[in-house]
Amino acid sequence: MRVIGIISGKGGVGKTTTSVNLGGALNYFGEDVTVVDANFTAPDISVLLGFPKLGLNLKSVLSGKCGVNDALYAHSSGTKLLPTSLSLAELNIDGSNLSNVVRRLDSEIVLVDSCAGFEKDFFHVLNAVDEVLIVCNSDLLSATNALKAVNLAKQYGKKVLGLVLNRYDGTGMSAKAIENLIGVNVIGLVPEDQYIKKALDEKDMVVYLEPEADASIAFKKLAADLIGRDYKIPEVKNSRLGDFLRFIGL
Ligand code: ADP
Ligand code: MG
Repeated sequence: MRVIGIISGKGGVGKTTTSVNLGGALNYFGEDVTVVDANFTAPDISVLLGFPKLGLNLKSVLSGKCGVNDALYAHSSGTKLLPTSLSLAELNIDGSNLSNVVRRLDSEIVLVDSCAGFEKDFFHVLNAVDEVLIVCNSDLLSATNALKAVNLAKQYGKKVLGLVLNRYDGTGMSAKAIENLIGVNVIGLVPEDQYIKKALDEKDMVVYLEPEADASIAFKKLAADLIGRDYKIPEVKNSRLGDFLRFIGL
């Protein structure tokens, strides 16, 4: 089992978008994958995928109300989800048992979506995972906060898989400048893509709803690289994707 944390320093950079779509992309390649929403204060996955009124969920598992398999949901693609309820009543749930809960899942790959900032829930995620992907955007604030996340992950002895540079539109810091600042390679470059908003409006994953969208192709490329599979990127459709292809040397 591979347990991968999707973390960042700054909020709003695309952790949840990455968790859900990378999960969908891994599922596309036939992996048994579960996406866990470990953002206890602002859980977004159930809202993003259109089932906000949850019954049993990760909070129920953590509080001992049910087993982990009772709280699993499935997206139409087959991607498994362990969501967290928005319920204010359970706001103070103790996430310190997250590591044990996650190990009880029987997926080959578990992606753990994290909160923003370096609060206690962030450290519960670091404790629960073996590897991390760091999500950041092309601006100095998100990059410097990503550096803090990388340093903390290393302190916790976690393998840093690399950076996912999200919402890339050719402006701001270059991927090279970000790599130099953080000292970690960019292994995924996801363009700014209007289809992400469309998928959000339709409460679905972009990789499932719009499989040919630039962002979907980028998530599939990242998924393929993570599991050592070949993925032939379809014909270049526009310049942003062209930059992306040049960046990854294709
Ligand atoms: P986080 O989980 O890090 O707080 P989200 O995944 O919720 O970030 O993303 C924040 C906002 O940015 C959301 O509205 C999301 O739809 C949007 N977004 C994320 N990635 C992209 C992208 N590649 N292109 C366009 N919009 C994006
Ligand atoms: Mg989020």
